[in-house]
Amino acid sequence: MKSNVCVLGAGRMGSSIVRTLLDRNYPTSVWNRTAAKCQPLAALGARLVSSVEAGIRSADVLIINVLDYAASDALLKQGNVASALAGKAVIQLTSGSARLAREEARWIEAQGAGYLDGAILATPDFIGKPDTALLYSGSRAVYEANKTLLFALGGGTSYVGEVPGQASALDTALLTQMWGGLFGALQGMAVAEAEGLDLETFRSHLSAFKPVVDAALFDAVDRTKARRFAGDDATLASLGAHYSAFRHLLEACQERGLDAAMPRAMDGIFKQALSRGRADDDFASLFPLFR
Ligand code: NAD
Repeated sequence: MKSNVCVLGAGRMGSSIVRTLLDRNYPTSVWNRTAAKCQPLAALGARLVSSVEAGIRSADVLIINVLDYAASDALLKQGNVASALAGKAVIQLTSGSARLAREEARWIEAQGAGYLDGAILATPDFIGKPDTALLYSGSRAVYEANKTLLFALGGGTSYVGEVPGQASALDTALLTQMWGGLFGALQGMAVAEAEGLDLETFRSHLSAFKPVVDAALFDAVDRTKARRFAGDDATLASLGAHYSAFRHLLEACQERGLDAAMPRAMDGIFKQALSRGRADDDFASLFPLFR
């Protein structure tokens, strides 16, 4: 038998979660601060609830997806809502930090509910797809008991561990890598345009270069995992070789008057290592400087 689910929040993501649950025949109720946002979901079969407390009391599983933890807290820590949580499985899908997830877990569990903290590695249009990744940490019992529901939201779902903040921490770590690439792309486009290249040329060459970049990325992770920082026969490019190419970026910025805030920060990191005589070490040897 499928659990009764209540979703708090019918924004872009919350609505997509509700639509997916209805599509998989989960009896789903929904509450949103602005009730009008729930109307299209009601038309699809969602039950509208008049209050957060009524929604929680009607459900076995509570999914929260509002703007941030402050908004979520304000909903849960009012009136008789807290007392309605006892015995429920609470799945928090609002984005938050590891610290907020730890605090939330303590508070929810103190109300007698089970708590799973989730991070969604997708935009709303990917919810419910076979490869969509959602990360969870916190109560293993809640994860195991609701696995079918969780996999309905994304086939690439995984359980990171029992420490509640770990899903959020992994999300932050993965996004950090993404921002590095996106900021790098913006800087690269500025260089390309300054030298009269069109961005279609830049774009078409990104695909050819991607396997090389991906290989370097995974190599850096593997080496860091093994703390194999000294240059060796398997080193793809030494720090010295990287720096010699990197200096062309600094030169391009200076010559073409481009903003160099990000390259300067990278230059500082390279120089710390090179001033300690590490030119022959692997690129991964920069890792200790980030700790
Ligand atoms: P949205 O702006 O479309 O919806 C936000 C929702 O929060 C609305 O339902 C709004 O009514 C509610 N809300 C805001 N403040 C509130 C308050 N004080 N009290 C009660 N409800 C309040 O945003 P979204 O894109 O649906 O994102 C929702 C959550 O999902 C966020 O935490 C976001 O970081 C996360 N998320 C979104 C995406 C995405 O691609 N949109 C991806 C991953 C995670």
